Amino acid sequence: MKLNIKDLARANVRKLIPYQSARRIGGKGNIWLNANEFPLPVPFKLSQQIFNRYPECQPKLVIEKYASYVGLKPEQILVSRGADEGIELIMKAFCEPGHDTILFCPPTYEMYKVTAETIGIKYRIVHTLDNWQLNILEITNTLKKVKVLYMCSPNNPTGNLINSKDIHQLLEITAGKTLVVVDEAYIEFCPEATLINWLNKYPHLVILRTLSKAFALAGLRCGFTLANKPIIDLLMKVITPYPLSIPVADIASQALSEPGIALMRKHVIDLNTNRDWLFHQLKQMRCVQQVFPSKTNYILVRFIKEFNVFKKLWDKGIILRNQSKKDYLFGCIRISIGTNEECKSLIAALQNLSMEKI
Ligand SMILES: *Cc1c(COP(=O)(O)O)cnc(C)c1O
Repeated sequence: MKLNIKDLARANVRKLIPYQSARRIGGKGNIWLNANEFPLPVPFKLSQQIFNRYPECQPKLVIEKYASYVGLKPEQILVSRGADEGIELIMKAFCEPGHDTILFCPPTYEMYKVTAETIGIKYRIVHTLDNWQLNILEITNTLKKVKVLYMCSPNNPTGNLINSKDIHQLLEITAGKTLVVVDEAYIEFCPEATLINWLNKYPHLVILRTLSKAFALAGLRCGFTLANKPIIDLLMKVITPYPLSIPVADIASQALSEPGIALMRKHVIDLNTNRDWLFHQLKQMRCVQQVFPSKTNYILVRFIKEFNVFKKLWDKGIILRNQSKKDYLFGCIRISIGTNEECKSLIAALQNLSMEKI
């Protein structure tokens, strides 16, 4: 009998469709606007040259610098291999496979779902309303057995903030029963909207952060989970022994130095300016049906199907993120904000395309 290795895998892994990251999808291009990365690299020097010893599990310097950046105590911070690891650690620490469920509200970041599927946690879905806000009534009715509620504000891929009034209401309803995780991966583009100050009041609130977006360090793989100490202590039980290599910690602490943070803030101003320019340009395009306002470094756009925008730009080496196969996102493409030149090239290409007969 021939052994089929696939049959040995867990059932949920056999069925699993892995996360379709921009890197997995690939493409050949010269303008990459598909992964919400910062378009230019930031400079660093490796100051550590000695690697024969294991690193600290939670590099003290990185934790202290992030604590001072966000105005929290070091004990309220966990650093991990990207915010993606934070998403997973929360499920590992809080969700009983086969019993507990998580809840999230598409269209949103897909790693909540993929992570749950990978580790065998059931999930419930409550779609957002037409204005991309949470359906509070439906969520309230669905909360039974839900251990963790994941939301993303500003939301990826729609670009909007979630009404803080709604999050507040959910935190009140879920107290003592359900963790509320707010993914703030893009919060640096609208820092006034952070919920960090609410951590004082809500022991079941968790906030996710990353260096991958505004800090221009997607390749570093470094993210943060912010919560009160009892939650951080539990996550510390399930984290791998050495989640951050020495070079990662080294570069992360440089990014979180005063000049590092100042540079990030300057980049945010530049990208927000480019985004607002792009928003107004897109609104005037003949191939565009709808442009969704954004608080982030990307814009979600609904194009008129017949113009075949995604494929045509792909062939020209302008790589965007197609969202059109997802529920409620027919015709939609997510465009990351690039440099000035990249934004101009994109608009020129779309203007050309808009002149085609359809
Ligand atoms: C990019 C992104 C992440 C992942 O961040 P990493 O730190 O790169 O793992 C998490 N959440 C959202 C909403 C994102 O867009």
